[in-house]
Amino acid sequence: MKLAIGNMLGAQIMTSCEKYLGLPMVGGKSKVSTFREVQERVTKKVMGWKEKNISKAGREVLIKTVAQAIPTYSMSMFKIPKRICDDINSVLAKYWWGQTRDEKKIHWIKWGKLCNSKDRGGMGFRDIHAFNLAMLAKQAWRLIQGGHSLFFRVYKTRYFPTCSFMEAGLGSNPSYVWRSLLEARDLITAATVWKVGDGKSIKLEDHRWLPHPPKFQPNANRSLRVSDLFDPCTKQWHTHVLHTNFMQSTVEDIQRVDLRNTHSKDELLWRENKKGTFSVKTAYQVAIRQQQQEKGESSSTRDVRRMWNCLWQLHIPPKVRNFVWRACSDILPTRTNLCRRKVPLDPVCEICQKQNETVAHALWSCPMARNVWALVSGKLQKRSSEAEDIYTLVRELMAVLSTKELEIQFFQRVGEKNLLLAESLVNVTRLALV
Ligand SMILES: [Zn+2]
Repeated sequence: MKLAIGNMLGAQIMTSCEKYLGLPMVGGKSKVSTFREVQERVTKKVMGWKEKNISKAGREVLIKTVAQAIPTYSMSMFKIPKRICDDINSVLAKYWWGQTRDEKKIHWIKWGKLCNSKDRGGMGFRDIHAFNLAMLAKQAWRLIQGGHSLFFRVYKTRYFPTCSFMEAGLGSNPSYVWRSLLEARDLITAATVWKVGDGKSIKLEDHRWLPHPPKFQPNANRSLRVSDLFDPCTKQWHTHVLHTNFMQSTVEDIQRVDLRNTHSKDELLWRENKKGTFSVKTAYQVAIRQQQQEKGESSSTRDVRRMWNCLWQLHIPPKVRNFVWRACSDILPTRTNLCRRKVPLDPVCEICQKQNETVAHALWSCPMARNVWALVSGKLQKRSSEAEDIYTLVRELMAVLSTKELEIQFFQRVGEKNLLLAESLVNVTRLALV
């Protein structure tokens, strides 16, 4: 049969097929081994870069534009196993911290934190798992919107002929693509609201269609749909049905729902942007938010975000920006920080022999640093020589200096020299030990 069709169409017959249109064929094989190739491609790319000659700012660009873009294609259709995501992250983290094959380097901040956006104090690297979900959500959103595409028609017929994508089950013998698409459903539920039309697609309990989660009466019939609650001809709510099933506050919420569109279908709106339309960018933000909620992380305050934004927007060399970021995050290899990491050495500053060498001491309070700062005229000179930490100091400076002043006085004219001098002092003596 295969042969006959092949001959008829003049097509080549393959006995086994590893790839189709550049995507792996996911059969019975272990998913991890199928997607291992994606990770190997990232590793190969990263190994090819001579990391010693590239600054952290340069490595940031390479990771973001090249390495993290490699898995994008596969991620648009398949859920990449967690283990592969973790391994890719680990390859990138080693590269970022300047680790070559067998060396050990201190990873001063966890990769998960580096994946925070820059205004949250991270480096804005892409969290691969979250991005994967956002890409899958994009395909899932196409299935929700319907239309005439072949993709929609095939999946609709095969997996959800009688209901909507949001209600579809796994079905018998599902493909890996279908399983992957269903993984994105939680993300979509969290990021959408229903605009009530005929009410037939909206289950009372499962879907978000009210401003607050509904509060039911003890004997409520929870299997009803929104269409059971109103009369489509008169466009009036069945008041007695509402009162038998819901508490008063929910009844009031329901009565505020607009019933003008009962002749059209219910519509799922993306509530992450004003237009109500889906975008991968906002879906990614939702995925990150969900991860943070799972880990119990709190979100940064507006003040903190303003400070990081201000730093990253300064027109100063990227290398210096990156250095200031590391100083503010308290992750420079000063003696105190190295002691904290169990490197056996004396935490006292080598230059003044008086205080422990913290980041604030090395860059600001130490007499050596004071001498350099004394060269800067103006507001900077009047500041106290004491600084709790560099983060607080930079934040205070941002409050009193204009952006131009910050750029010129603090970072460019003397600042760059001073910061790089301090960096070299800290680095030359200690990086060898790490
Ligand atoms: Zn000192």
